[in-house]
Amino acid sequence: MGVKIALAGNPNSGKTTLFNALTGSNQFVGNWPGVTVEKKEGRLKDNKEAVLMDLPGIYSLSPYTLEEVVARNYLITERPDAILNIVDGTNLERNLYLTTQLMELGIPVVMAVNMMDAVRKSGDRIDIGELSKKLGCDVVSISALKGDGVKEAAEKAVKAAQKKYAEAPVHEFGEEVESVLDEIENVLETSGSGIRQEQKRFYAVKLFERDDKIKEVMGNAPDVEELIARTEKALDDDSESIITNERYHYISTIIDSCLVKAKKGRLTVSDKIDRIVTNRWLALPIFAAVMWLVYYVSVSTVGGFVTDWTNDVLFGEIIPPAIEGFLESIDCAAWLQGLILDGIVAGVGAVLGFVPQMLVLFIFLAFLESCGYMARIAFIMDRIFRKFGLSGKSFIPMLIGTGCGVPGIMASRTIENDRDRKMTIITTTFIPCGAKLPIIALIAGALFDGASWVAPSAYFVGIAAVICSGIILKKTRMFAGDPAPFVMELPAYHLPTVGNVLRSMWERGWSFIKKAGTVILLSTIFIWFTSSFGIADGKFGMVEDLSDGFLSGIGRAFAWIFAPLGWGDWRSAVAAITGLVAKENVVGTFGILFGFSEVAEDGAEVWGTLAGSMSALAAYSFLVFNLLCAPCFAAMGAIKREMNNVRWFWFAIGYQCVFAYLVSLCIYQFGMVFTGAGISVGTIAALLVFIGFLYLLFRPYKESSSFHMNITSVRAKA
Ligand code: GDP
Repeated sequence: MGVKIALAGNPNSGKTTLFNALTGSNQFVGNWPGVTVEKKEGRLKDNKEAVLMDLPGIYSLSPYTLEEVVARNYLITERPDAILNIVDGTNLERNLYLTTQLMELGIPVVMAVNMMDAVRKSGDRIDIGELSKKLGCDVVSISALKGDGVKEAAEKAVKAAQKKYAEAPVHEFGEEVESVLDEIENVLETSGSGIRQEQKRFYAVKLFERDDKIKEVMGNAPDVEELIARTEKALDDDSESIITNERYHYISTIIDSCLVKAKKGRLTVSDKIDRIVTNRWLALPIFAAVMWLVYYVSVSTVGGFVTDWTNDVLFGEIIPPAIEGFLESIDCAAWLQGLILDGIVAGVGAVLGFVPQMLVLFIFLAFLESCGYMARIAFIMDRIFRKFGLSGKSFIPMLIGTGCGVPGIMASRTIENDRDRKMTIITTTFIPCGAKLPIIALIAGALFDGASWVAPSAYFVGIAAVICSGIILKKTRMFAGDPAPFVMELPAYHLPTVGNVLRSMWERGWSFIKKAGTVILLSTIFIWFTSSFGIADGKFGMVEDLSDGFLSGIGRAFAWIFAPLGWGDWRSAVAAITGLVAKENVVGTFGILFGFSEVAEDGAEVWGTLAGSMSALAAYSFLVFNLLCAPCFAAMGAIKREMNNVRWFWFAIGYQCVFAYLVSLCIYQFGMVFTGAGISVGTIAALLVFIGFLYLLFRPYKESSSFHMNITSVRAKA
């Protein structure tokens, strides 16, 4: 007869590796109903009767994340025949937190202690027999990566599944708690809740913890508030903390008797690095220095050097003359030559010219991600974000968004709190993505003579925009509320393999090159046609001067809007608007409208005409506007999907555009005053905006209740 086994474990415990080892190619992948969490199911290779269900990676069965809710709903409503609990042997203490909760479900559990190869290598010893005795379940030591012990683990799980339900768990809480749990179980019994005998303990614990989501699942949960309040008073703590603390106490007794550490008390290299890198005072300056270096090297030095060559030589001296020579040799029509040279080569070439800088940036990001540093940043940011009522969880989508906003926005799915998730979706694209890099590099190079501060400043403007928006939005009624607790694994630092870093760089880089050949190509063709054709002297046709073209007319209709920001030129307005299709278009449009290839042919400095058309201050205001305003169509689509609500979608886009406009207005207007241009109507408008901004930022905020903070600090210990 077929059995169903659920595979449960912490993220990074090796669940995927074990699942693949056990099921091979017999996998079905889908989504859990109603939510966007991946669901994987497969038949065991060695026993086709047994189905293995891969649950999302979770740290506990609390209802704080979507994954936790999905996994536990499956466990309590579908009730698999057995649970195969995979734990990371190198991190036993933390992993056991989930185990103690799984044991309470009344479902037979088999534990697979994974990464035993790494445990042995470190010299640590885990007493498997003792662990099994202490937990009251079968324990198998395995190495999912090497395939050791995985068969035995599967066999044991299948065997356990025949039992159908487990005996009472070995673990008992303290006397007070056990007695109140007994009372709650009795209430469950007499209130006719219909809960099965072996599940009562789980429900009793959850009701004691005041878990609202469990009450929803039960439908008719009995009122046990009086019992809870009595125990809380007796033990002088809130019920959720009582349970958490007792679990940790139990875990520490298990660890004491089952784990012998080779290097007791000695700090690993990772710990030593973390002492400095996540230090309360040094963490932020180090992060700022690292990101400054990353942007400086990618934009101004190594990347800049290669980009200069691709811009000046490859797309300046080599490709355009070669194509022109070829087109002339085949007697190509003048308009087609114009389209190819002044449209496509100028537009797409201008974008491709920046690919080297992008690739260098992607190498750095891939390295920082895979060596484990970025995980620390989320942890550091949590400390800061929490002060403003935000969760460090919001920072993960932003880290991902540094490559591309679309997966960044999608990563916000892991945030269970609806308001926090919406806020993260709105602010994620403030962080400059790879496609904005060409704009940054262009402005830094052409208008600031490659000044080293410009590119890093773009990144910090993004972070500041996120933090300020977070504070402002959190103080509105729409987003008020305590941040979700944030528990995260800090993997040991390691040197990533060259192959992995290069693969990650190439995957991201290639998608940009592909975009250049599709969206950007079509956009440049559109821009060339609309800018080169128009009505001159009452006749429709190609115009000599682009400012007589249709596009210039359209641009002028919008340009006045941006005049207070310092760049009321129609070409800049058109560039910013085409940037909504794809951010690379900003540079592509400039390439066409400022005659990138023509200038290059003359041998004059590339982008010279652009530099001549706007001041450095206006250019910086232009840069900031394009960094913060609504993202490209692809990212807007992602926002729409993730918000799943038209009004919220327009709120997000509206907020981003208005925020970008006001920040750029302040930058330009205050900059003008500092450069001695005197005070104008614009200055006064900017001053009013700034005062309003300070008010929204610093007006009082309702303190979060101490009850929640308490839980958070207990969970943070995990
Ligand atoms: P998941 O997040 O739980 O699905 O974990 P994965 O299966 O993705 O594994 C996380 C990391 O641990 C990967 O880099 C795996 O290669 C590694 N890993 C998994 N099992 C073992 C093992 O038995 N030994 C060692 N040394 N590494 C492992």
